Amino acid sequence: MSANLLAIFYLVSGVLFILALRGLSSPETSRQGNLYGIIGMIIAISVTVISVGNFSIGFVYLIIFLIAGGTLGAFIAFKIPMTAMPELVAGFHSLVGLAAVFVAISAFLNPEIFNLGYPGDIKIASLVEMSLGAAIGAITFTGSIIAFLKLRGIMSGSPITFVGQHILNLALGIILIGLIFYLCKTQSENLFWSLILISFLVGILLIIPIGGADMPVVISMLNSYSGWAAAGIGFTLENTALIITGALVGSSGAILSYIMCKGMNRSFFNVILGGWGATDDTSSKKSSEQKPVKSGNADDAAFLMKNASSVIIVPGYGMAVAQAQHALKEMVDSLKKNGVKVSYAIHPVAGRMPGHMNVLLAEANVPYDEVFELEDINNDFANCDVAYVIGANDVTNPVAKTDPQSPIYGMPILDVEKSKSVLFVKRSLSPGYAGIDNDLFYRENTLMLFADAKKMTEEITKNL
Ligand code: NDP
Repeated sequence: MSANLLAIFYLVSGVLFILALRGLSSPETSRQGNLYGIIGMIIAISVTVISVGNFSIGFVYLIIFLIAGGTLGAFIAFKIPMTAMPELVAGFHSLVGLAAVFVAISAFLNPEIFNLGYPGDIKIASLVEMSLGAAIGAITFTGSIIAFLKLRGIMSGSPITFVGQHILNLALGIILIGLIFYLCKTQSENLFWSLILISFLVGILLIIPIGGADMPVVISMLNSYSGWAAAGIGFTLENTALIITGALVGSSGAILSYIMCKGMNRSFFNVILGGWGATDDTSSKKSSEQKPVKSGNADDAAFLMKNASSVIIVPGYGMAVAQAQHALKEMVDSLKKNGVKVSYAIHPVAGRMPGHMNVLLAEANVPYDEVFELEDINNDFANCDVAYVIGANDVTNPVAKTDPQSPIYGMPILDVEKSKSVLFVKRSLSPGYAGIDNDLFYRENTLMLFADAKKMTEEITKNL
């Protein structure tokens, strides 16, 4: 395939990726966006494979690895539950980072294959590109592994901090820049390996102090890093598709992180620099023992909601675990038949990934015009009769407004407590992701419905 034809195909796939991102910006167009992305990726991979062209041993390897990787990816994607999606995404980001490191190592050790010069005599621009690709890739790799371990619960989700952490990070950042500088001057292999090793360490140190409410931002930030790593390697390989795709992922991930920071009332730089200003969360972890709670059953809940004129549904991670979205839609349909006005309130970080609740509600065919973002519905709680909190916890916790020591302090929350009655569907008094007690469980206007979200919702529908 001629270089010009290849460039045109890459351009077409680049345009399709841009259309994909545009489509994914709204639930109505997201399927179409996904389709554009799939077509763009098929074109990009196919023409890359065809451009290799000769049936050398390298080509055979390429095909074997494509089939093996594709099969494994499809198998994992089919098997993974929706609730484990953030871990999956973190896992995939780590692979992008590692791939960038491997390509950089290969280019450094065999520059002649990539037309970058000869060992010890590599073009300076190429050295800078591969050093940046390797460093960002290595940071993405270890950072994503830490994010995976935190999200999976293998490692504590709380921030891990120690004295001098930021000074150490700063020093390592300066050392990395120095290493790249001297690598370009000396082309020393030792400096190259040191660069990769220190970058692995920086990835770990950057992510361990981040926890609690900042974790969603970390995921999209690592997404962004993986894009920049790919773009850096795209320059090394002189592959325009990789440069375009990497830049799209890098910039869209950065914009998403910025939007999420704004939504969470967090400073972008504090999160990026790794838990700068992280708070000690011990005070808000006070135990819940001995406090009285009012609990009820499906009958009580049905009675309250049937007699309400407006109900706001607040879905959270527990709804995803119980897969209660279809049962919820049925309950809402019954309420609407009874003349009750129902809306859904979505917190920007409800669930375990951005847009988690929107996806589940769309799957249950909930009309988009009944679903509202936090800032559009928060004032309505004061005039609402019942807030039906289904598997949500942290996103309703008022401690975010009152306790500066809390790990979620500053995060905007859904003001469910302002409703006349609050129904909390969850299985126990256990805390949510941030690991902190929720004072709302013990309030006068709260009724706890201890059960699996799906079972309780189905019971309520029967009683309605
Ligand atoms: P939370 O994690 O605060 O709470 C979920 C609640 O669901 C738990 O308290 C649990 O209580 C309950 N639950 C679990 N399973 C069931 C079930 N089968 N039936 C009924 N209830 C169940 O969720 P929120 O959505 O309120 O908040 C999201 C949290 O996740 C925030 O802290 C956010 O920062 C964090 N996060 C969000 C990400 C994102 O991008 N959206 C990514 C990473 C983290 P019990 O065990 O008693 O049933």
